[in-house]
Amino acid sequence: MDEFQTILKARQFVRNAGVTTAPVELECLAAAANAKIKFMHDLSDDESGQTTQHKGKHIIIVNGNHREERQRFTVLHEIAHIVLELPSQHHGPKLTTGNLMRYGRRPQEEMLCDVFAAECLLPYDLFSKDVGDVDISLDAVKTLADRYKASLTATGSRYAVSAPEPCAYVLSEDGHIRYVSRSKFLNELKGWIDFNVPVPKDSVAHRLIQGTSKAEDYDELPTDVWFNGGIKNRPLLAEEAILLREWNQCLSLIWFDESMKPAHERRHEDEDDEPLLKELDGTLSWLSKSRRR
Ligand SMILES: [Zn+2]
Repeated sequence: MDEFQTILKARQFVRNAGVTTAPVELECLAAAANAKIKFMHDLSDDESGQTTQHKGKHIIIVNGNHREERQRFTVLHEIAHIVLELPSQHHGPKLTTGNLMRYGRRPQEEMLCDVFAAECLLPYDLFSKDVGDVDISLDAVKTLADRYKASLTATGSRYAVSAPEPCAYVLSEDGHIRYVSRSKFLNELKGWIDFNVPVPKDSVAHRLIQGTSKAEDYDELPTDVWFNGGIKNRPLLAEEAILLREWNQCLSLIWFDESMKPAHERRHEDEDDEPLLKELDGTLSWLSKSRRR
């Protein structure tokens, strides 16, 4: 099984379970996997959860002392093991928090269960509509993470996939790129980012990792900082990044917008529309898509 098949399976699973609102109801998804969720308050802090069997049902035990977003991801990761029929590779019967939150050298099966979990937590149909309604920024990702009761990590990853502009989300850990997700518009521009390599030197992420004060920053950078050889007609990119010190991780949201293209490359219809729009409300709607600090 690969990532693409996993995503398709997750989408089908969510649709069959009848999920239509955010935040997604976990009981509903657990029932669809023939599982029940049990919250335990006497697990050690490094234990996220485990799955056992009882009278033909799966019992998903989750650490009730953890933050809600983490509990939800744990439950969905365990549901993924059941639905995908992938035995757990890293945690025996027990899933530790370190296993769940960190990426370094994780077996493929575990990554696929995370992909499945993120798809369930942020269902494509529902989530892509919400992504289309907001202007791209880390703040927008944070707001959506709250609405879906999901971690910033999971939400950022799904955000980039659904974004209506060329956009990538990069998770780095211990100074190395561990996970990249990209919008289809970035695929069309052939914007690739390698992983398991050090975070690029001139990136915002690198600056935050090296620094000691700031945990978040935004900048506009030459495109070849992140994309080897650059991208045609896109000299500049926007990167907004945040450090997650607890896991020695950094999240970067990277995107291109119209205002960063050379003037002669921008969409001509904007020029045509300009006088009319000015008459209407004095602003061009697409300009609000580009954010500046
Ligand atoms: Zn697992």
